[in-house]
Amino acid sequence: MNILVINCGSSSLKFQLINSDSEQCIAKGLCERIGIEGSQITYSPEGGEKEVNVTPMPDHTEAIRLVLEALTNPKTGVVKSLDEIGAVGHRIVHGGEKFAASTVITDEVMKAIEECNDLAPLHNPANLIGINACKALMPNTPMVGVFDTAFHQTMPEEAYMYGLPYEYYQKYKIRRYGFHGTSHSFVSKKAAEDLGKKYEDLKIIVCHLGNGASVSAVKNGKCVDTSMGLTPLEGLIMGTRSGDMDPAIIEFIAHKEGKSIDEIMSILNKKSGVQGLSDNLSSDFRDLEAEHNKGNANATRTLKTYCYRVAKYIGSYVAAMNGVDVICFTAGIGENAALVRSWVCQYLGYLGVTIDEEANHKRGEDVVITTPDSKTTVMVIPTNEELAIARETVRLVK
Ligand code: ADP
Repeated sequence: MNILVINCGSSSLKFQLINSDSEQCIAKGLCERIGIEGSQITYSPEGGEKEVNVTPMPDHTEAIRLVLEALTNPKTGVVKSLDEIGAVGHRIVHGGEKFAASTVITDEVMKAIEECNDLAPLHNPANLIGINACKALMPNTPMVGVFDTAFHQTMPEEAYMYGLPYEYYQKYKIRRYGFHGTSHSFVSKKAAEDLGKKYEDLKIIVCHLGNGASVSAVKNGKCVDTSMGLTPLEGLIMGTRSGDMDPAIIEFIAHKEGKSIDEIMSILNKKSGVQGLSDNLSSDFRDLEAEHNKGNANATRTLKTYCYRVAKYIGSYVAAMNGVDVICFTAGIGENAALVRSWVCQYLGYLGVTIDEEANHKRGEDVVITTPDSKTTVMVIPTNEELAIARETVRLVK
């Protein structure tokens, strides 16, 4: 069965068509600047030429129509008709406490997703628009929602509660939710599979280090803690997000710089992280590594602070699980930045971690980067959130 995976943002839409039998991606692409002048669709059929088409997309329905047109195009398409698309899997950012698993999308499910809009005001409305646009053009095709938060719903209360007045949890459901759940689930399962061990017997820490970044603790097949919180701002230092900090800093900056809460939140989300810490050198680790190699002190400070924070989270999750068997690195930085992995692992002597630097420099495959006598196994596992969404979709519609 072919599964169309849709990841819909407020002005963009990423898509992949995946054959669920071979688990291969048959075509993928991206619609950008939806509802804004200069919209364009990029379409790449597997083994074919990448096409970029600048064309008006006043709304998401038009974007989806263009995606379906590209997929069924007689010359460059990959399917003959829409009948060859068995189901659509939608990535949904926030499922609140309502969704602990993926689900077939019904009218009631749409309503429940809408009720989570408050928790993710930028993302959930866009996800819903994407679902509605697909339903309008493919009314008889089953749709599945896969939530970024669902995998973390197994966290115990002591991990998800904040030290705030309890009434805020009761009234507004303010608590830790966590994100990147599809990736944490995919990577932790893959680690067990690769090692030929039972998922339910392992204590795994997954470091998803992309532009957005989070760590999770997975004990006996269940997530028991994760570093992102009510929103994706908490936890690690990220590309442009601050991660953890003293909340009183918000008031301090507001007074010193005469800024509103909205302005400061924008700084914490868009101008902080490694971008801000490096004094605007870059949010990209390729640049930071290159500058560090040239002796740039801003880059070195940024990389050191970043790795220290990752190592502290690993330490806290070793405590949460009373040990760890496997530590996994994934996503753009986790999969590619050997230096970051190496520096993080330098803090892990107490876990008996010894890195095999040759293995640490391999790319693009699942690999154990510790020596055979290392007491804790460290792995690099490329994540594949689209494939995970396609698998969930097939499981629910078959
Ligand atoms: P997201 O999906 O959150 O946008 P990704 O998982 O694609 O992010 O990660 C993007 C980041 O990965 C880039 O900002 C860059 O810092 C990092 N990255 C990508 N390739 C490399 C590389 N070869 N070396 C170091 N870092 C890399």
